Amino acid sequence: MFGLMQDRPLLVSSLIEYADQIHGETEIVSRCADGMHRGTWRSTHKRARQLASALIALGVKPGDRVATLAWNSHRHLELYYAVSGIGAVLHTVNPRLFPEQLTYIINHAEDTLLFYDTAFAPLVEKLKPELPTVKHFVVLADEAATAAVQKSHPYVRSYEALLSGQRDDYVWPVLDENTAAALCYTSGTTGNPKGVLYSHRSTVLHALASCMKDVLGLSCQESVLLIVPMFHASGWGVPYSAAMAGAKVVFPGAALDGASVCELLNSESCTLSLGVPTVWLGLLAYLDKHPESKPKHLRRMLIGGSAAARALIARLESELSVDVIHLWGMTEMSPVGTASQRPRHWNTLSSDEKLDLKVKQGRVMWGVELKIVDDNGQALPHDGKAFGTVKVRGPWIAKSYFRSEGGSIVDDDGWFSTGDVATIDPSGYMQITDRAKDVIKSGGEWISSIDLENAALVHPAVQEAAVIGVAHPTWQERPLMLVICKPGQSVTRDELQSVLASKVAKWWLPDDILFVSELPHTATGKLNKLKLREQYQHHKLPT
Ligand code: ADP
Repeated sequence: MFGLMQDRPLLVSSLIEYADQIHGETEIVSRCADGMHRGTWRSTHKRARQLASALIALGVKPGDRVATLAWNSHRHLELYYAVSGIGAVLHTVNPRLFPEQLTYIINHAEDTLLFYDTAFAPLVEKLKPELPTVKHFVVLADEAATAAVQKSHPYVRSYEALLSGQRDDYVWPVLDENTAAALCYTSGTTGNPKGVLYSHRSTVLHALASCMKDVLGLSCQESVLLIVPMFHASGWGVPYSAAMAGAKVVFPGAALDGASVCELLNSESCTLSLGVPTVWLGLLAYLDKHPESKPKHLRRMLIGGSAAARALIARLESELSVDVIHLWGMTEMSPVGTASQRPRHWNTLSSDEKLDLKVKQGRVMWGVELKIVDDNGQALPHDGKAFGTVKVRGPWIAKSYFRSEGGSIVDDDGWFSTGDVATIDPSGYMQITDRAKDVIKSGGEWISSIDLENAALVHPAVQEAAVIGVAHPTWQERPLMLVICKPGQSVTRDELQSVLASKVAKWWLPDDILFVSELPHTATGKLNKLKLREQYQHHKLPT
């Protein structure tokens, strides 16, 4: 027997309609190349409908892919709603990728329109001859700023000119909820990047679940500084979940340095911010020199994308008086999967015990099933010791990549293998020990590169540390640590080894430590261990 409830589709357009009706006056603030822009959820909806009319006038059809190459801004938000709202597919492209990767991705997606920040005009000019499917090039700027770009790039159109005069009474169509809404390529550390194709249904369900108090905890009381880029994994879904919750959103544009971030946190009374660890390290470095800029309204900081070290969480909490919440997920998961929940028994824990738990990536949120398995696919116990590959399943997790790249990506029971290795403790807290390809295999046992990096960061002179496995004649692989020291500070190998020895098992200690001036990062701001492994593949360990 079926239930007798209404079968209304879950659509992205319902989020902006709701935000307009109920939270219409709530502000959307954006720092753009052409100055600060102050709008509201209502003006966002109005402009998204004008943009929808403009897209249709340009010939965009349901299912067409429309690309963005842009920092976080109100215009990017309008594109999120207008493109998906008309049944086309918003393809967010990461401008930090190499030109060859950008060309590959845009051609693979067969994007028909490209919207981009004026700063990327020279880049797009270079790519243009290689992008046969793109019919229109639109810069996210007003007519005056566009005119300046047109001098050297006459084919560009102005976003504001496109909107002006367009009708704002566009009625969002009732689509099938399984219609594709957005497309995002994962960096693909091996092989070509692969497209994750989100549906309206998966997007709305992910937004609904991630609003929960123990996940992002969004509400109409919050002013959110969205530092995580909208070009990667939908800015952790915040452009959607913030509309559902009616939160104020502040978009920082391209300036993500400590000074610019502090300025916005204070001027926009931000209560919550989301970012990768590197951004928060930059913020702390700035505050060391400018303690008077300490954010006054900030209550919570959400960290994900890479492991947040214990030392980073401890500093943020003590110096900024905030609660740090660790998140984990990936593009294929829309992206949020776990969050550092605080059940009632936390009230009885000491601050050190709480920190031990906050370092873990947290407990799985409702809607995502999660398990760890051994090499034979057998589920491992949740004892906090056994570590294995993390597999996930759920309504906002990919079942296949765009154009079936890589074939089937789920097993017979529908589980997707994340490529991360983790432990899960009896209370359900997952701790990522590594990406499967980064784990160091020494004498048949595994050493966690993340644990070693976190241990090194405890030393006050260490700014960043990376650990990779290097070939060893007896042990197969042994750890090599690369360290960047803070400006004007230093530490010796022996000092660092003794700090590490107090944190990890003796056989985990790196066989060698090298001091370097920089470390390579991927386009999404993560340590590029693939590159490091290539660079140091012939490194001769003293052992
Ligand atoms: P890309 O590889 O293109 O950067 P993703 O953003 O999808 O793409 O990366 C997801 C990966 O980032 C996860 O599989 C995991 O390895 C890593 N990651 C994300 N959050 C965390 C976290 N809190 N701690 C450790 N690793 C994390």
